[in-house]
Amino acid sequence: MKVLSLLCLIGLIFSCKPNQKEESKFSSSSETKNIEDDSEKIIFSCEQSEEDVKPLRFERKKLTFQLNTQITLIGASSVDQALAICETSNLNICDEIIDSAKKLEDLKKQIASLESSIGECRDSSKVALNVVFLRSEDETLTDDHLADATLLLSELNSQLNDNGEQIVEFKLTGVKEVLDTEHYKTSCNAIIQLSAIHSTDDALTFVITDYLSGGCLGVSFLWTFPDTSHNILLGRYDAIKSDQNIVLGHELGHVFGLNHTAAVYSGSTPGVGLFNFNDILSGGIAKDRRCAEDFDYYIHDKALSTDAEAGGIVWNSYENLMYPIAAKDREVVSLFTEGYSEAVNKAVSCWNGFALK
Ligand SMILES: [Zn+2]
Repeated sequence: MKVLSLLCLIGLIFSCKPNQKEESKFSSSSETKNIEDDSEKIIFSCEQSEEDVKPLRFERKKLTFQLNTQITLIGASSVDQALAICETSNLNICDEIIDSAKKLEDLKKQIASLESSIGECRDSSKVALNVVFLRSEDETLTDDHLADATLLLSELNSQLNDNGEQIVEFKLTGVKEVLDTEHYKTSCNAIIQLSAIHSTDDALTFVITDYLSGGCLGVSFLWTFPDTSHNILLGRYDAIKSDQNIVLGHELGHVFGLNHTAAVYSGSTPGVGLFNFNDILSGGIAKDRRCAEDFDYYIHDKALSTDAEAGGIVWNSYENLMYPIAAKDREVVSLFTEGYSEAVNKAVSCWNGFALK
């Protein structure tokens, strides 16, 4: 693995590149794969939704037949008419009608919600995203995993919106909580072992931990796809839930092949200066995939506050998500600072062409 393939957003000056020791651990990490089946709790999955909705549809059919029979007994031709009759009468069967009508209403809502998620699952214009929350023996990250995964999804999609244009859109295809005390509090280097455990070939997976040491907020591999074994992003739960949630778009930027826009700390970039985008991708995971349309990409040496310019490229290297340090006093406008928007759009468009199935 190239050093460049592991990049992170940090809160302090810290190099998070993997050393040789970690790399060799990657090839012999059988102990980290040894997770018991019952230590994994599925919160949501597209397959599960499909299976769950079938018995509910059968129940709806039964209940509808039962209710229609009940309302006929009091001479009504619709449920609304039957409920109106029951409001002004004290017929014994009214209790049953009201009860059946309420049950049917609740059931319909439940089915509609499941069908909506199934519809989302089948939307081939969106990229699949799984969210894995780690937990330890005695601590959990959240009481509502689905709500937090949905928040993460909407934050990602919102950060990837360029003035109303959704340049890439994610859909939630799986949420689970996994017991992994070893990695509940860990370091960004653990992405190597965690990727070996959680990568799937049908979705990008966001793994959420309680803590990442060394001021690291998140980490991802450069230029990776759902069909490689390095398709996880690793992030700290508190960063995701705070105003530091720019780490989400930042890590995705690396997945799309975008490098840091400044070489502020050692190990964060291959160097400074003007690159062709395809040169940068040569240090990524899926380096055999290049973009048909190449373009220039500039990495500034410091870029502490102002626009960067080289070889005719002008963009704001500092106030965008691909700056490597999440300084509190830095205003992050979006992924799409002036001049940088074009590079981002081209990179994402190229990535999307490979990623959508
Ligand atoms: Zn980074």
